[in-house]
Amino acid sequence: MIITIDGPVATGKSTIAKKLAESIGFIFFDTGAMYRALTYGILKHKIDLDNAEQVQNFLDQFEFDIKVTRHERHYFVEGEDVSKKIRGEEVTSAVSKVSAVKAIREKLMAIQRELAVGVNAVFEGRDMGTVVFPEAAIKVFLTGRNDVRAKRRYDELVAKFPDEAQDLTLEKCLEEISKRDSYDSSREHSPLKQAEDAFVIDTSDLSVDEVVYKILEHKDSVKTKRHS
Ligand code: C5P
Repeated sequence: MIITIDGPVATGKSTIAKKLAESIGFIFFDTGAMYRALTYGILKHKIDLDNAEQVQNFLDQFEFDIKVTRHERHYFVEGEDVSKKIRGEEVTSAVSKVSAVKAIREKLMAIQRELAVGVNAVFEGRDMGTVVFPEAAIKVFLTGRNDVRAKRRYDELVAKFPDEAQDLTLEKCLEEISKRDSYDSSREHSPLKQAEDAFVIDTSDLSVDEVVYKILEHKDSVKTKRHS
């Protein structure tokens, strides 16, 4: 069974998807981290996104790996552990532009579909329920008020990058998330949008456990409907 969780920046997608997966014994995939890892490779090799041949050559050789330890997952690009670097400012400001390239989306979509074969998994991202897994058993779309999302992003960056975050403000975070959401929602290929059959949850005033509980309740109700 595949469960998809999509939504804009800082709606709690990763934390919720991870907790949900743990609670029902599913595997969890953070597809944003895959786009970030690929973006890291594009920046490292100074690939010109307007040069289709260069992009294709890069994609043909791109080596990417995920290693899961008991508590954490690590992302590797060409053997280098980039788990922390892919969350930094350089990758974050380039990732939406990279993710809008059709050939790049096709490459990652093929990897994501391959990862889903024969497993129970929660896939979290932007186009999981609409494009990558349109037949998913359960689709969730998370939303949240801008002020709450900006505060979450702020707290996350301060915790992860205390030195770099010294000049950070809530306004800057709001600007970053709005810019990324608007780019992700307006791109031509697999834009961020709610699937018609998605279960929508506004996470602004809910705890992680409350959201997970709502998804589990929804999952049970879908199962019951199918069996009645
Ligand atoms: O989820 P996260 O914020 O880490 O995602 C980083 C970026 O990756 C998004 O802003 C979006 O541009 C891209 N992305 C995407 N499709 C996905 C997941 C992420 O385009 N399925």
